[in-house]
Amino acid sequence: MKRFTWRLLFCSFYLLLVISCTQTSPFYRFKTKQPVLDDPPYLQVLLVSYKEVQSVPITLRGRFEIRAYDVDRSRRFTAGDILEKGSMLNNVTVRATRDGLKIGGIIVKANDVVIIPTASTGPGSLIKVGTRPYRGRLRIKALSNKKLALMNIVDMETYLYGVVSSEMNSAFPPHALSAQAVAARTFALFRIKRAQKKRVNPNYDFDVTDDIFTQVYRGEERSGQKIYAVVDNSRGVILTYQGRIFESIFHDTCGGRTEPVHLVWSGPLVEPLKGRICGYCYDSRFNHWQVTIPARDIITKLKLPETKSIENIRIVDSAPGGHARTIGIKLSDSPEEIKMNAQKFRIALDPNKLYSTRFEIKKRGQSFEFTGRGWGHGVGLCQEGARGMAEKGFNTLEILEYYYLDTRAVKIY
Ligand SMILES: [Zn+2]
Repeated sequence: MKRFTWRLLFCSFYLLLVISCTQTSPFYRFKTKQPVLDDPPYLQVLLVSYKEVQSVPITLRGRFEIRAYDVDRSRRFTAGDILEKGSMLNNVTVRATRDGLKIGGIIVKANDVVIIPTASTGPGSLIKVGTRPYRGRLRIKALSNKKLALMNIVDMETYLYGVVSSEMNSAFPPHALSAQAVAARTFALFRIKRAQKKRVNPNYDFDVTDDIFTQVYRGEERSGQKIYAVVDNSRGVILTYQGRIFESIFHDTCGGRTEPVHLVWSGPLVEPLKGRICGYCYDSRFNHWQVTIPARDIITKLKLPETKSIENIRIVDSAPGGHARTIGIKLSDSPEEIKMNAQKFRIALDPNKLYSTRFEIKKRGQSFEFTGRGWGHGVGLCQEGARGMAEKGFNTLEILEYYYLDTRAVKIY
């Protein structure tokens, strides 16, 4: 009887857990510290440089299978029928043809396939796309316009080797890298859950992109023993707030204070992302910067009328950390001031030039001079701050709890 009661209790608990993991709130519940998954989930990473391209060169030195694409909603990757088998794809070109996909000399009569290396270890298991090596599997989808979209299908932990080594300098202290690994795992899991509910793109499904708009991922390009060890040591650990997963975004340098997420983008207040004084990122090379952008470039990039000139650009309002929230643009011969979200303004101009929205603006002749601090949106973990904290002796959890307020780390597998 006693054993039966325990079993019943366990089953009810598991059922509750499953139900709460699939709810629609912006948070996802994990009501236990106990592992809830047997293995890391798979995720699909859209390779942005190979989104809607005519052709792509790939290399795979080892045995492989080409299978029909198939993935179930729980993100357990389940490959479909074997379409072809081979042992070498040496710098071959992939194209979409009327009869299906042409991969080097092979024509596969399908428009959505996955190349799976079948050698389990060694360099043979890496697939090069262009010059960049990837672990895992390569999905190639021919679109209706005969262009291609490429996705890397990879398990979470292998994916994190690529993210941590791309998002942070491997020379950073291990606790900074480890905090990055947990933040990136949490973010990726949040995105997997979101993509399960709603397709990001109607033409092809994926969970994350490989660029700054989600998390930078360069496959195996920069990984090494230090990165492998850091990720392995935090295997399966994610952050939760009141038992729920949240979108743990991060950025390079806040410039002194991180920002509340709802003041940077429109949306709800997310408690762990409400911002706080940083004070650890003053050594960042992006702590101070200056850039001058010609007014003509601003008109073109913001798609403003080419016949007009810009009289003035000003900051309408700012968040507590000093990042601009709204930008006002006054055009010549226009009575109205155009107002736009400062992040959208930055992204449209060039996020790799206009490093953050924590800037002051001065008109200099036919150009505008932006003098600023920080790099990135300023929300969540400050990567340079994490480095600063780790150098001062703080550990992984202390760093995470500092930037993501009132959160707790749990191990889910
Ligand atoms: Zn900072």
